[in-house]
Amino acid sequence: MDTLPCEGCKGLCCGPVPITEKELTKIQKKIKSMPRKIREELENQPRFFGTCIFYDLHKDRCGIHTVRPEICRSFGYHEDLVCFRKPELATKEKVMRKERPIGNLSIDITWKNF
Ligand code: SF4
Repeated sequence: MDTLPCEGCKGLCCGPVPITEKELTKIQKKIKSMPRKIREELENQPRFFGTCIFYDLHKDRCGIHTVRPEICRSFGYHEDLVCFRKPELATKEKVMRKERPIGNLSIDITWKNF
């Protein structure tokens, strides 16, 4: 499958995203397993206003990529989550969520939760 041209966007599409309880647990595990130095470096990065708390501006990519929420995985490939740089990839139907989100990452759930 063709991939999204994320490089260079500096997290433009990485804003507050809804997450479920299971996703929160996975992210908490991941953050706990990070070496302190890496965690602190990620936590204390300056970010653009509204950018996700896990966006790694220095590396220009998601700082928790392997455990990123479902909505992040779906971005760019569904008709209601289109990447403006490659809209032709949004060929799937609207995203159907099986579980209810418990809040929005970066707004309701912040670094204090990790
Ligand atoms: S979790 Fe990762 S992919 Fe999702 S919005 Fe945050 S930085 Fe972006």
